[in-house]
Amino acid sequence: MSASDPNTVITRFAPSPTGHLHIGGARTALLCWAYAQRAQKEGRNGRFLLRIEDTDQTRSSESSTQGILKDLAWLGIDWADGPTVEHNNKTIGGDERGVGPYYQSQRLDLYNEHINKLIESDHAYPAFETPEELEAKRKVAIEAKTGYKYDRSALDIPREERMQRMAAGEPHVVRLKMPDSPITVHDQILGDVTVGPDEFDDFIIRKRDGFPTYHLAVVVDDALMGVTHVLRGQEHLINTPRHIAIQQSLGFDSPTYAHMPLIFNPDGSKMSKRDKDKTAKRAVKEAKLESSPIEGLSDADFAKWLKDKTRQLPSDQLIALAGMLGVHLPEIDVEDFRRAGYLPEALNNYLALLGWNPKSKNDDGTDVERFDMDYLASHYGFEGMGKGQAKFDRVKLLSFNADAIAQLSDEDFASRWRDWASSYDPALCERFNANDMLMLAPAVKTRCKTLADGRDVIGFAFVQDDAIEFDGKALHKALLKGEAKGLEMLKRFKDELATIDPFTPENIEQAVKDFCEKHEVGMGKVAQPIRVAVTGGPVSPPLGQTLAIIGKHAVIARIARCIEVADAGGAAKE
Ligand code: GLU
Repeated sequence: MSASDPNTVITRFAPSPTGHLHIGGARTALLCWAYAQRAQKEGRNGRFLLRIEDTDQTRSSESSTQGILKDLAWLGIDWADGPTVEHNNKTIGGDERGVGPYYQSQRLDLYNEHINKLIESDHAYPAFETPEELEAKRKVAIEAKTGYKYDRSALDIPREERMQRMAAGEPHVVRLKMPDSPITVHDQILGDVTVGPDEFDDFIIRKRDGFPTYHLAVVVDDALMGVTHVLRGQEHLINTPRHIAIQQSLGFDSPTYAHMPLIFNPDGSKMSKRDKDKTAKRAVKEAKLESSPIEGLSDADFAKWLKDKTRQLPSDQLIALAGMLGVHLPEIDVEDFRRAGYLPEALNNYLALLGWNPKSKNDDGTDVERFDMDYLASHYGFEGMGKGQAKFDRVKLLSFNADAIAQLSDEDFASRWRDWASSYDPALCERFNANDMLMLAPAVKTRCKTLADGRDVIGFAFVQDDAIEFDGKALHKALLKGEAKGLEMLKRFKDELATIDPFTPENIEQAVKDFCEKHEVGMGKVAQPIRVAVTGGPVSPPLGQTLAIIGKHAVIARIARCIEVADAGGAAKE
């Protein structure tokens, strides 16, 4: 059965707040959002909701929930129903339809109500075996190579007795009685997937601690929240027949299901949140580090982490370690991409293509690949979804990002760069004010692939005047070659610098131009020696900006030092 009203499309993203929002979760959220948006654009009732699946209280945390909300908002994904967050002076989320709360931990009564219904109708039953008893049975099955599955021995206890023991508070779990006939998932991407009764197991819907399992909670919530379309990763396909069994037992309609391809690294390994730790562990082994170099991480914990493939370090420790070892960690979480200076529009564009092909052409006949959120919200559908693996191509993502940066207006670039730096590179904000960054914008935005790269473009501004390292080859070529004409020009220009006032890019450019005309030399003959003197190398943003950004005093000091080095024959001529 499928949810009935074709005019209603309600999708949901249901993260478990046990860590950061990773790239797979972000893709799910994005496509669920887009699917609901499209319905809305087509005049249907489209809604996207956010639900926090925090029934695993030991692994869930409110800080993780807040991080997820913040990351979604940063990506530009908003939800009609769900926990609220303030973003850019707007409130995202709410409970307009009155189907909340949206934290599963606040819905326990609802789950129990449904579990009780299932028990009363004999679709579920309490089972009293201790974990040790079950483990012993599992062992026997493994040894006999028969494959373990719960043997329903709880059903040998007369119904009345079972109910009495449960009512008396004897520790138990509740299991769903799975049907005897096959279950078919009508998947919108994969087609029909049928699972037969021999693969069924009477799985647990309420644990010994009284908490519902994910399977029960997700089904009850999807039904009570009116979810019509469940779009999620293929790793959940294995769960779907169970969910359908619960729906059938409770008399709920099944939502429409669509399971998206898994995301793989280019080397064929599954992209995992542990990839960062894996990279750091490899680097530690290569560096033969045997004790913890990190404050707050004991040698014993360091050794445990190193040995155990599944162990992860907290983000800040991992970043510190990578910094010490000079290794670049692969970005996995949305926060990683943000820190690395990706723009949300580039990330969204790329994420949407992980499994989806818009199957339309540009005017020049090439496939549509670059699009914005509005295009995605108008075009996204299951028809273009692939069944196979989705490869995460970092090179392609980087080129999407570089293009997105280059397309920003100077004002936009400067403000995004500043926002980024205020979180991830405060020294940049201290060194440059907003006007400086705006002045640098045209030069920097075309030279960087990420906002973090911006610093490399203007790295010279962070070096002490007397610590500039001159690139020997560039210095020789610009200053000393051909009777040292460059050096002579540099000496003369230095004397004129004092007259440039105010020391703005325009005035500097004009002064260089006038100087060249006066001395009847080409611009390159003057600009290049100055550039090398001030930055140490042959490439930099346009000269006016380069000089203005470090200020007149520093320019004079740097030129003087360069003249000294050149007079002494250059740093190196090779
Ligand atoms: N809470 C589940 C997860 O984070 C999602 C469940 C679902 O989409 O049905 O994997």
